[in-house]
Amino acid sequence: MTSTRSFQTGITHRPSAVVAATGAHDVVAALARAGREGLAVAVHSTGHGLRRPCDGGLLIDTAAMAGVTVDPGTRTARAGAGATWGDVVAAAAPHGLRPPHGSAPSVGVAGYLFGGGLGLAVRADGWAADHVRAVEITRAGGTVTVTAESDPTYFARVRGTGPDDGDVVTAVVVGLLGSDGLVGGGLVRVLGAADAPGEPAALHAWADWTAPLPDDVTSGVSVVPYPDLPLLPPHLRGRRVLRVGVVGTGGTGRTDALLAPLRAAVAWDDDTVAPLDPRTSSRVYAEPEVPHAYLGDDVLVDGLDRAALDRVVSRTGPMVVTGIRHLGGAAGRAPAVADTVRGRDAAYCVNVLAPFDDDVPAACAWSGVDRLLDGFSPRATAEGSLPSFRYGPPRPGTA
Ligand SMILES: Cc1cc2nc3c(=O)[nH]c(=O)nc-3n(C[C@H](O)[C@H](O)[C@H](O)COP(=O)(O)OP(=O)(O)OC[C@H]3O[C@@H](n4cnc5c(N)ncnc54)[C@H](O)[C@@H]3O)c2cc1C
Repeated sequence: MTSTRSFQTGITHRPSAVVAATGAHDVVAALARAGREGLAVAVHSTGHGLRRPCDGGLLIDTAAMAGVTVDPGTRTARAGAGATWGDVVAAAAPHGLRPPHGSAPSVGVAGYLFGGGLGLAVRADGWAADHVRAVEITRAGGTVTVTAESDPTYFARVRGTGPDDGDVVTAVVVGLLGSDGLVGGGLVRVLGAADAPGEPAALHAWADWTAPLPDDVTSGVSVVPYPDLPLLPPHLRGRRVLRVGVVGTGGTGRTDALLAPLRAAVAWDDDTVAPLDPRTSSRVYAEPEVPHAYLGDDVLVDGLDRAALDRVVSRTGPMVVTGIRHLGGAAGRAPAVADTVRGRDAAYCVNVLAPFDDDVPAACAWSGVDRLLDGFSPRATAEGSLPSFRYGPPRPGTA
């Protein structure tokens, strides 16, 4: 692996220098060098959220700063800037603890928190940013630890928006949650051939089911047209597939009781909802962990009308994937310590992404994404969208 490897393969860094930092001291030295040589600085972790290439500047790669230490007494983890959520999960699990991570363990700790962090159990836990206790910031002059006490304004900004220009986050301290009673998995329904419009009843059933749910169940749905590839299970090849990812924090009996109406409403082709070991939580959304070129955007909405859901099923074409995450509950409540997370007033987040390549250029992929998102814009909340789910090169004509 080179220092500029990235989950996003549609954008390539071409820096004039790469610093594979092993600690804050390397970052201080790199920033000093960039200052001396007049180089723009970019930071690279996993590249999941990569939107602009570093061309000719100095790229600080944080991959080697991936250490995680857990303090079970304070139920916190200190994660280096290069750690992924999978690293934190692995360190926390032996203590019966779990971090407030999202759908993919390969996502980086830092970049996810800058967007607030919409976790698997966000309706029970609140946003991941709500759990951050301290952020270590490194700049040319040295390293400072920013907390609610030391600098409440910056502490709020970095948790939900990101660090100031020129600052590099070199570590974070994040609160951990108990994993007793954790239940999760997926409900899968094949909607028909990938190139046919599909039947929206299962999506309506999910939306109706979410409306009155208590906070201890969090779910999201995706509509994915699977290609006809031999590596896929035969019943999914070339099919349009709806998947509901579910996480409950109240134990099996309670989660099963809350799930019963949804289980009864649809003839599910697959149901893997069961007690969940946090180390296997990637099975909730079963997202591909293969680097690829993709772009996309999202919209925060205050409700889901039936026509918009019908369009999700009929317009999610062979080159577009739609996801809807249920918010509300703890995600809608004010945090104990102020942050700058968006989406507290929203009921759902709708995100649409599309792969692109030489055959399907980015401009074409963007038109597929916007065709789907446009159906939701009239119901967008005042906050608009979550920065976390903006992917890939910007739309043509935008900065
Ligand atoms: C498959 C997949 C699943 C996802 N699931 C979720 C989910 O469930 N919930 C959710 O909220 N989000 C999710 N996301 C979105 C994800 O949180 C964002 O893409 C996030 O930006 C990724 O952060 P990163 O550090 O992994 O990526 P990177 O692309 O390496 O970093 C993202 C940005 O942060 C900057 N940056 C990274 N580290 C530092 C640092 N130490 N100091 C200063 N700047 C830094 C980078 O320069 C870049 O601009 C998902 C994304 C993907 C691709």
